[in-house]
Amino acid sequence: MTPTNAAKQTITVIRGDGIGPEIMDAALYVLDAMDVGLQYEEADAGMVALEKHGELLPAATMDSIRRNRIALKSPLTTPVGEGFSSINVELRKRFDLYANVRPAKSFPNTKSRFPEDVDLITVRENTEGAYIGEGQMTSEDGQIATLTQKVTRKGSERIVRYAFDLARSTGRKKVTVVHKANILKSTSGLFLKVAREVAAQYPEIECNEMIVDNTCMQLVMRPEQFDIIVTTNLFGDIISDLCAGLVGGLGLAPGANIGADAAIFEAVHGSAPDIAGKGIANPCALLLAVGQMLDHLGKPADATRLRAAIVATLEAKDALTPDLGGQGNTMSFAKAIASRV
Ligand code: NAD
Repeated sequence: MTPTNAAKQTITVIRGDGIGPEIMDAALYVLDAMDVGLQYEEADAGMVALEKHGELLPAATMDSIRRNRIALKSPLTTPVGEGFSSINVELRKRFDLYANVRPAKSFPNTKSRFPEDVDLITVRENTEGAYIGEGQMTSEDGQIATLTQKVTRKGSERIVRYAFDLARSTGRKKVTVVHKANILKSTSGLFLKVAREVAAQYPEIECNEMIVDNTCMQLVMRPEQFDIIVTTNLFGDIISDLCAGLVGGLGLAPGANIGADAAIFEAVHGSAPDIAGKGIANPCALLLAVGQMLDHLGKPADATRLRAAIVATLEAKDALTPDLGGQGNTMSFAKAIASRV
């Protein structure tokens, strides 16, 4: 049976805020052109949901993700001073999406200083550490602020195992464990200890250890030495944005949030209110996240086909959006990619 005749798999689609609907239209246009046997169930989150349903993350949206287990999500604006500190953090928490997987790859015709050398994946622990906000308080006189950082053996083990399994399944050769165990002896120390134990179970994959500050310097000086980086939440957030900068910025940076029961695929960038409604947002980051989703769905040939079409379109400088120096728009870029899939 061809994919068109086979029962289609349903994914949850969250169109999001700001440039979200524009880049989602573009991504779905390309996905439809690929005919990979997916159908979409739309669900609201963010400002749109607040206006329509009076809440940022409606129960119907949670149910849709729980049912379909896969969501493609555009950026969401988190209103200042209302509800959760971040809807994204809340989604990760509620679905226990413990692995944040962010590839950074050099592409042609971008503003990158490294047009060829970078091809790495940051695997960031997504559910523990400084970002969970445990024990967050400021003393009454405003002079002392505290925060508890919790790292567990279970959390460390599953993220490091995810990184090594990813290396194994994608034929990558090296995992770099990034830490600060020399200073953060308890939290980073536990992470490193567990990482060593897990690494010993993957003898065919090279494992090296690097302190986070040195990692930042090495990434800027010699990014080609990295293959897969695995690290804790806060370090991973900063390192993955640094890596996005190495390969030409946020317009080309995708991310996957993966758990045992659900996975959410998204662009790393936000809702870009400064260009929303103008139709000029770069759809590539979300499209690269679609590539990650296709890999996750067991459709690696389709993922490769999509990435090749993106590269060919960048090479041809065909209809590129203004952030890449082109004179095209979101849909012209998407159509140029769709014509090559
Ligand atoms: P942003 O990523 O939205 O924008 C930063 C800059 O990058 C802007 O100049 C913007 O125009 C540009 N940019 C971003 N994406 C682009 C694209 N696809 N094409 C071309 N240019 C692009 O960051 P911000 O302005 O700090 O945040 C805006 C809102 O997004 C905030 O409410 C924030 O909370 C939210 N946010 C959401 C997510 C998410 O949903 N995953 C991530 C980050 C920020």
